[in-house]
Amino acid sequence: MPAICCAVGCNNSRTRNPGLIFYSLPTEKSRRDKWLAAIRRDHWAPTSHSLLCSEHFVSGKISLQLRSS
Ligand SMILES: [Zn+2]
Repeated sequence: MPAICCAVGCNNSRTRNPGLIFYSLPTEKSRRDKWLAAIRRDHWAPTSHSLLCSEHFVSGKISLQLRSS
C-alpha cells in the first residue's frame, strides 16, 4: 500500500514528498469528522491505510482550506 495523501487534488506521497509528514485518520469521531470535512471526498470511506499529508495542517491543526500550491 503506497503512502499517498487521500485529500482531493493532492497527489503527495511519501516517495515524491519525503519532507512531508503523513498522518493516519484519528479514531475519535469528532476529530475524524473534521478530517473528513477537510478531505471533502464524496462517496468515500477512509480505511486504516488512509493518510493525510502535512500540507493540510496549519500550526499542527487540520486546516479546512487546502493549500492551493
Ligand atoms: Zn495532501
